[in-house]
Order: sequence, then C-alpha cells, then structure tokens
Amino acid sequence: MNQSQLKSNDLSTFDQYESEVRSYCRSFPTKFQRATGYRMWDVEGKPYIDFFAGAGALNYGHNPPEMKKKLIGYLMEDGISHTLDMASEAKETFLNRFNDVILKPNRLSYKVMFPGPTGTNSVESALKLARKVTGRQTIMSFTNAFHGMTLGALAVTGNKFKRKGAGVPLNHAVSMPYDGYMGSNTDTLEYIESFLKDSGSGISLPAAVIVETLQGEGGINVASNEWLIGLSEICKRFGILIIVDDVQMGCGRTGSFFSFERCGIIPDIVCMSKSIGGYGLPMAITLIKPELDQWSPGEHNGTFRGNNLAFITATEALTYWETEQFAEEIKVKAGLLRNALDEFVSEFPELKGEARGIGLMQGIAFEPGIAERISKASFERGLIMETSGTDSEVIKIMPPLTIDRDGLAKGLNILKNSLQAVAGEKNAILSH
Ligand SMILES: *Cc1c(COP(=O)(O)O)cnc(C)c1O
Repeated sequence: MNQSQLKSNDLSTFDQYESEVRSYCRSFPTKFQRATGYRMWDVEGKPYIDFFAGAGALNYGHNPPEMKKKLIGYLMEDGISHTLDMASEAKETFLNRFNDVILKPNRLSYKVMFPGPTGTNSVESALKLARKVTGRQTIMSFTNAFHGMTLGALAVTGNKFKRKGAGVPLNHAVSMPYDGYMGSNTDTLEYIESFLKDSGSGISLPAAVIVETLQGEGGINVASNEWLIGLSEICKRFGILIIVDDVQMGCGRTGSFFSFERCGIIPDIVCMSKSIGGYGLPMAITLIKPELDQWSPGEHNGTFRGNNLAFITATEALTYWETEQFAEEIKVKAGLLRNALDEFVSEFPELKGEARGIGLMQGIAFEPGIAERISKASFERGLIMETSGTDSEVIKIMPPLTIDRDGLAKGLNILKNSLQAVAGEKNAILSH
C-alpha cells in the first residue's frame, strides 16, 4: 500500500510491520506530524497539549526556535556530524559552556565522559567504573528504581516485568527499601545501615549505591532531603561510591539543573541523558569526580558518542541556566501545578487520589486501574499524559519546563474534565 492510499490516521502500517514491543503508541493511538513548544498535532490536525515531554527528553519543548536556528546553521555550514570521541569544535564549545554555566557556579569539578547516547549507557558506564575503582562487584539499588533496559542497568531496576525481560539472572546487585517504602514510621536508612554493619547480613560491601532523588518511572516517589543526605553520609562512612541517576530528573525537572542541588549532596558519579541534548537529540554524559576517572582509553566506548548535532543544541540549551530566572519560573509553575492537584484530590474524593512530586514532576496516585483510564480520557480530550508506577497507578504530569501558564492551565483543565469523567463512571458503577 503506498502512502497516498492510507487513510490519514490509519495505523495499519505499524500493526503490520512494526514489532509488538512498541508501547507508548498504544496509550496514544494516533499519528503525530508536527509539534512546537508544548503543543503537538496529529495528521488530522487535532491538537494535543504535551504533559509527557518525551519522557523527559523534551524539557525545553518541541523544536525550540533558538536551538533549531543553531542546528540549521550548523548543518548549512557542513558542520561535522559524527566524530566518535575525536575532538571537535562543537564538543569543545559544549565542554567549556557546561563548565562555565553549570559546573563552576555549583562548585563542581567533574570530568565529563561521553558514553553511548542513551541513559542506560550512562548507567552502564557508571556501574563499570564504580566496580573498577573499588574492586568490588555488588551495587546497591532501591525498590521501584528505574535505571534502563540493558543488563547492568536492569539488574539495579526494581520492576519485575522489565527484569524478567532479561532472560538471564541479574546478578551483583542488592535492592534496598527506598525512602518511605516501609511506611512513614520506618527509617529505611537505619535498616540499610544495619545490613552494612552486620557481618552476618549476607551482603558484601557494595562498590556503589545508585539512586534517583525522585523516582519517576517508579511512581513519583520523592526522597526527602534528610534521607538523601543520610544516604550520602552512610556511603562516605563505608567507603561506598554514590551514583545519582539524573537521566530523567536532571536538566531542571525538579526545579534546579541537577536534582540533588536541593539537598546539597555531591555524588561521586552522575548519569545524565534525556534532555541534556536539548532538542530530543540523543546524547548522554557521565560526570565523574576527577580522582575516580581511572578509565583506560577505550575501556568503555560506543559509535555514537560524538553526536555533534546534539552538542550544538545542548550548548544552546545551557542558555536557560545562565541566570536564575528559568529556575524561578519552574518553581512558580510547580506551585500552580501543586495547587491544582490538591484541588482535584479534594474535588473528587471518590477517586481517592494522593498528590505527589516536586517541581514539574508531579502526579496523583490512585488505586490500580484508575490512572490508565484518566490517561485515556485525557488523550481523547487532547492531552498527552502517561502513567507510572509498577501497576501504572500514578498519572504522571511532566510538561516541558518552558510551558507558559496558559498552556499549563489548559492542560490542567483537560485533566480536570477527564477526572470528572472517570469519577462519573465510578459513581455510575457504584450506584448499580
Ligand atoms: C529513561 C531513564 C533511563 C534510561 O534511559 P534510556 O535513554 O531510555 O536508556 C535511566 N534512568 C532513568 C532514571 C530514566 O528515567
């Protein structure tokens, strides 16, 4: 069948030719065509508000004009596109700007490693390095963690379904309870520390702990500042490296460039990808304390480490972080979002929702089944919004950080209508 014979929004090509592994297209069954800022349009011209932001790869929105201009300019000059890990002018500019705008003002002195251009590759490189530097094998991770889909990253990921996909044993990792996992009365750090202290615990001293400061995929679980500081202190005391996976929460998602700025810890290694490239272009970095940078040349590599098109847009994206203004705006919008969610929770008590999250990474947790229906109802009304959590029990609100108040209000209005629709269904079932 050629393209012109297809009805405009016919999805049969994907059914016919694409693998069953595809997933997001099942939640959002339409064919997208264009997008700018926080708006997307499908082939029939139906508009959508984006509360998904490419799972965190589009923090600066779709096709941000300044980045697009730089990218087109670079392409028109035949700027070099692919360089593996050779030196290029585009990479040099990125490294200098990243130091000037991000690292130096935060008094950080990390060396920058470019692994393959995905989050999971950054995580693999961090785990490998931690094992190499310490000579130990075990990595401590947390319940409901998500770190990526390759074997090393899967071994430190909580989700049973995703782990099972490995098809082989996932070894050399030990999962510990995240902040709040055992209820608000249990300090999970005490529990963790008792395992580390006790020579009868059955756990060998880990090379590193890998942690998300806020678990996005795991259901919007926020670790408290005290917990993160306490974890960092335990790591210091036992000589364990601390790796922060900032693949999704970095680049401003929780209100500051790095998600750990709120608690002031200094991780030994930081993993970043998703929005670091700025335009949805593939790029990842692993930040390493200089004394830990014990790699031999080529010990970790990858063909697409030198995506210069991403270096161009990543450099431009740093402009947002030159002043405090962008972070201030995120805080204001985060407050508006939180107010709206609190209001929704009390307005629809029959849905028994619980508002969660910080920054522009918030959501509402429900009993299993509800969140997926809200996501579906929202899609029908023109809002792209995913679910998260092991049982998809949380609606995940993650707009581009650049969304304006009007866009935020419009999206929240669609969400409210969807909540009303799902509450209505629930009341109808109860009254039968
Ligand atoms: C998305 C994500 C990853 C994996 O990134 P990919 O680019 O999909 O490999 C790892 N860690 C966290 C916290 C993520 O959100």
